[in-house]
Amino acid sequence: MTTLVFGHKSPDTDSTGSPIIWAWYLKQIKGIDAAPALLGEPNTEALFMLDHWKLDKPRIIDGIEDGQKVVIVDTNNPAELPANINNADIQAIIDHHRLVGGIETLAPLHVVIEPVACTATILYKLIGDDIAQMPTEIKGAMLTCILSDTLEFRSPTTTQEDKAIAYSLAEGLGVEISDYAAQMFAAKSDVSAFSEIELLRMDSKELELDGKQLRVSVLETTSPASILDRKDALMTAMPVVAAQDGADLVLLFVVDILNEEATMLIPNDLTKAIAEKSFGASVSGDTVILPGIMSRKKQIIPNLKV
Ligand code: MN
Ligand code: MN
Repeated sequence: MTTLVFGHKSPDTDSTGSPIIWAWYLKQIKGIDAAPALLGEPNTEALFMLDHWKLDKPRIIDGIEDGQKVVIVDTNNPAELPANINNADIQAIIDHHRLVGGIETLAPLHVVIEPVACTATILYKLIGDDIAQMPTEIKGAMLTCILSDTLEFRSPTTTQEDKAIAYSLAEGLGVEISDYAAQMFAAKSDVSAFSEIELLRMDSKELELDGKQLRVSVLETTSPASILDRKDALMTAMPVVAAQDGADLVLLFVVDILNEEATMLIPNDLTKAIAEKSFGASVSGDTVILPGIMSRKKQIIPNLKV
């Protein structure tokens, strides 16, 4: 049976690249029949990575059969995985997110979760000396994942390991990091083709806090104005997405990568109260700027109070 390697639903760059990297390793180095898969259409930055490095787009799957051998990367949250994930034959979980619980397995498995900025950083360390056998395009995917998850080392999730590995990969590939990252972020910022409802689900995590179901959505961009120009339509779409997804509230943070700040949309008094309690902001009007806020994982979710 082919082992399927996949990341979370609404795949970002790390959830697109890391399955490709790990499936290459399992197949070419370990001799295990493995293939990458995607739980949905990848985002525009991930598509740029596939195109730039001439990588095949992994197969998009709707779900998995019970008993399917799988490796899960870039998440450990069953809400972001196929509904029957606990009936899969999970071989390994390799991740860099907080442990949320809910995954159960039939047999022992490998679990590696480290507080680094990117799954690909962990994969690099696990692959070790066999990196020497890695083809250029797989190394390119690795570098792209790290620059994406670290926002070119601006995110406070960035560790010295993420940086050292990215610099080493870039040197070997002859990639000039600032030029390449600018191309990546331009691709990520080109979201004109998406509806407001799609934007709210593009990079979103579900979270329960004090009995409230929240959807915490982030849009990382070098062009915040192009998203904030659509704020009225986004605020109209928020309750629609909340109702469809069984959430009490959708929060949206537009992260300005270059200016290292986030703009939070404030459609109602409850959201206003959350912004004030969580970030010590004083809110007037329907947006608030949160200086220095870049990371949902490290700065938004740990501070949220409803
Ligand atoms: Mn991810
Ligand atoms: Mn990641």
